[in-house]
Amino acid sequence: MKTIAMNQLRVNEYCGVVHIHTTFSDGGVTYPELVNAAKNTGLDYVVVNDHMTLQGKHAGCEGFAGNVMVVVGYEHHDYQGLNHYLVLGTDAVLQEQAQPQEYVDGVRERGGIGFIAHPMERRHYFKKYPPFPWTEWDVTGYDGIEIWNQMSEWVENLRRWTSYVRVLYPRRFLSSIRPELCAKWDELNRERFVAGLGGVDAHTFKFKAGPFRIRIFPIKVELKGVRTHLYLTTPLPRDNWPAAERQFLDALRDGRGYVSNYRRGDASGTSIFLETQDGSAVLPGRAGSVVLPPARIHVRVPQPAEIRLVCNGELLDCAKGERTEFAVDSPGVYRVEVFRRARAWVYSNPFPVGRYPL
Ligand SMILES: [Zn+2]
Ligand SMILES: [Zn+2]
Repeated sequence: MKTIAMNQLRVNEYCGVVHIHTTFSDGGVTYPELVNAAKNTGLDYVVVNDHMTLQGKHAGCEGFAGNVMVVVGYEHHDYQGLNHYLVLGTDAVLQEQAQPQEYVDGVRERGGIGFIAHPMERRHYFKKYPPFPWTEWDVTGYDGIEIWNQMSEWVENLRRWTSYVRVLYPRRFLSSIRPELCAKWDELNRERFVAGLGGVDAHTFKFKAGPFRIRIFPIKVELKGVRTHLYLTTPLPRDNWPAAERQFLDALRDGRGYVSNYRRGDASGTSIFLETQDGSAVLPGRAGSVVLPPARIHVRVPQPAEIRLVCNGELLDCAKGERTEFAVDSPGVYRVEVFRRARAWVYSNPFPVGRYPL
C-alpha cells in the first residue's frame, strides 16, 4: 500500500490483480500458490473469480493472508455458457438465474456487485478457444466492465507463426485496450457511471508448441501484467473482514482508481485527481458526477510518459513528462490515459463532470 497526497486529501492506494481462476474451476493454481505468488510480487490484494463456484469462500480462503487481501467472487455465465459476468460480494452462486438480466439483477438484490467480463472478446485463429463476448447490451444495472483482459488480448492475437514467441514472452504483447471497447466504455458513461477494472483471466493453461508442452502464464508472470489500483481514503480494517470487504467493493464499484500494465513499469504511486474550483480533490469515478466545470485534472506518474486527456471518447490534450495539469471547461466524460513507448501503461476511471446525460 502506498500513501499519496492529493491536495488536502490523503489517499491509500491498494494495488492488486482481479479475475483469477484457481483449481476450483479451470485455473492452474491453488489458493496457497496464489497467495504465495501475490506476497512475492508485493500485491495488496487478489480477486478470484472461478466459474460458477464460490468454493474458495466456503473453504475459508477469503480474508487477509499476511499483507495480502484475498477476495473471493465468481464468474457467472448464462444457460449457454455465454455472457460472462464477474460477481463479487455474494454468499451464493445464483445458479437458477439463466438470463443475463436475471443474474445482473440477482447480484444487486443480494448486495453484490458485478462487472461484464471480456465484453468484446474476439478470437480468430483457433477453434479450440472460441470468443465469449457480451452480447446482451440492452441489459441494465451492471456496475462496470472489464476494460482490459490480459488473457483475451493474448489469445486474440495468437497466430501459429507467432505462437512460439508468444508462449516464451507472454506479456510482451500486451499493448492497449481495443479502441472499440474504449469507445463503448465512453459511450456508456455518458448515460450513467460505469466503472472499469482490469482482469487477467488467469488460467495458466498448457499449450502444445511442436514437441513441447509449455505452461503459459505461470502465476508469477500473470500477476505482473494488468493490475487494478484502488484509492481508499481510509485504510482497510484488518480486524474486521466484513467492513474491509465492503469498503473494497465500494471502491471497485465506484471506480475509485485506475488500471495499469506492470510490464510497462510499476505504476504504483500514480496520482490522478480532479481539483474543483474551491481547491478540493475529487477521486476518479462516480464521485466526479457532483462536480461542475470549471475544474482541473492533476496527473503525476512515477516515470516520464505521454499523458493524454480523453473527453467523450476524443483525445483532447496531451503532455509529456512525469506530471501535468489539464483544464476542464465543459461538462463531459473525462479520462486519463498514459502511454510509454507507444504502449498503454495507465487508464484512469472516468470523471463524469456535469449532470447526466453528458
Ligand atoms: Zn470468462
Ligand atoms: Zn474467466
